[in-house]
Amino acid sequence: MSDNEQVHCLIIGSGPAGYTAAIYAARANLKPVLYQGIQPGGQLTITTEVENYPGYPEGIQGPEMMVDFEKQARRMGTDIRYGLATKVDFSVRPFKIEIDEEKWLDADAIIIATGASAQWLGLESEQRLNGFGVSACAVCDGFFFRGKEVCIIGGGDTAAEEALYLSKICSVVHNFVRRDQFRASKVMQDRVMNTPNIKVYWNTEVDEILGENKVEAVRIVNNKTGEKQVIPVSAYFVAIGHKPNSDIFKSWIDMDESGYIKTLPGSAKTNIEGVFAAGDVQDKIYRQAVTAAGSGCMAALDAERYLSLMEHKMMTEAKTL
Ligand SMILES: Cc1cc2nc3c(=O)[nH]c(=O)nc-3n(C[C@H](O)[C@H](O)[C@H](O)COP(=O)(O)OP(=O)(O)OC[C@H]3O[C@@H](n4cnc5c(N)ncnc54)[C@H](O)[C@@H]3O)c2cc1C
Repeated sequence: MSDNEQVHCLIIGSGPAGYTAAIYAARANLKPVLYQGIQPGGQLTITTEVENYPGYPEGIQGPEMMVDFEKQARRMGTDIRYGLATKVDFSVRPFKIEIDEEKWLDADAIIIATGASAQWLGLESEQRLNGFGVSACAVCDGFFFRGKEVCIIGGGDTAAEEALYLSKICSVVHNFVRRDQFRASKVMQDRVMNTPNIKVYWNTEVDEILGENKVEAVRIVNNKTGEKQVIPVSAYFVAIGHKPNSDIFKSWIDMDESGYIKTLPGSAKTNIEGVFAAGDVQDKIYRQAVTAAGSGCMAALDAERYLSLMEHKMMTEAKTL
C-alpha cells in the first residue's frame, strides 16, 4: 500500500452537485472527503436571489443557500476541505489524485462535480453589476425582469433558446449578434426571427453596460460602421457559451468536443468504472441547481453500488484463496 492518504469516496467540487453527493455518500457510510476548489459553494455564490430551488418558498440568496448545503453535508459527516484537485491518474486502483500540487491521495471511488463557468465578454461592468441585472442564465433570472426590456448577447443555439424564453416573460428582447448572421440552427433562427418582440441587431457588440447600482442601459457599437447607440434595458443576459471545468480529466475521461464529461444515459457513470460525474460538468442542457443536486444524488448512489460490489468481489476472492 502507498503512503498516500486513503479515501474511500472522494468528491471534487462544492456546488449543489458535490454537496448533494456528499449528503448521500455520508449517509451511506462511504466516509466522503470533499474538496471545495477555489469557489466554495460554486456558481450560486456569485448570484443574489434564487427563487426556483424547491423548499425555499420566499426565495433565498445564493450564497446563503450554499452555506445551508455545506452545513447539511458536514452534519452528515462529510470531511470538507479547502483545496484544489490539480492532477489525476486513473490508470491505477485506487485512483490517484493530486491536491494543490502538493500531496497525493488514493481514492476507491471518485465523484467529479467541478461545474462549469459561464463565458463573459470581459467588460468591467459585467463584474460590477453581476447579480444586479447582469446574468448568464435567462432561465434563472428572466423572471425578475418580467414585463421589462432586456438584452441578450450571442448568436448560437443557446442564445436563441434563451432569447425565446425571455420573449415570453419580457416586453422586448434586444438580441445583439457580433456577426452578420446567426450560428444557431436554421430552425432556431426562424423561431427567433418570427418572434415579434425579439429585435435582432447584426454586427453589434456591447461597448459598456450602463448603470450605477443596477443595469439601466447598454451602449452598443456597430462593428462595421463604428456607430454607437444607447439602448435602455433592465437586464443584460450573456449567452456566448460555458466552459466545463474538466481540463484535468481530459486524457482519462470521455468528453464531448466542448469538454463536457460524457455519462452513461440515466446514470452518473463515466467511461472509467468507479469514476462518476454530476452537475454542470456533465450537463450542457439544463444547468440548474436542482438538476445538479439531482445528479449528485445519482452519483453517490452509483458510487455506493460500485463500492459494495468491489468489496463483495474482494471478499469472494479472499475466500477462494
Ligand atoms: C449568475 C448565476 C445565477 C444562477 N442562478 C440560478 C438560479 O437562480 N437557479 C438555479 O437553479 N440555477 C442557477 N444558476 C445555475 C447554477 O448555479 C448551476 O447550475 C449549479 O451551480 C451547478 O452546480 P454544480 O455543483 O454542478 O457546479 P458549480 O456550482 O459550478 O460548482 C462547481 C464546484 O467545483 C469546484 N471545483 C472546480 N474545479 C475544481 C477542482 N479542480 N478541484 C476542486 N474543486 C473544484 C468549484 O470550486 C465549485 O465549488 C445560476 C448560475 C449563475 C452563474
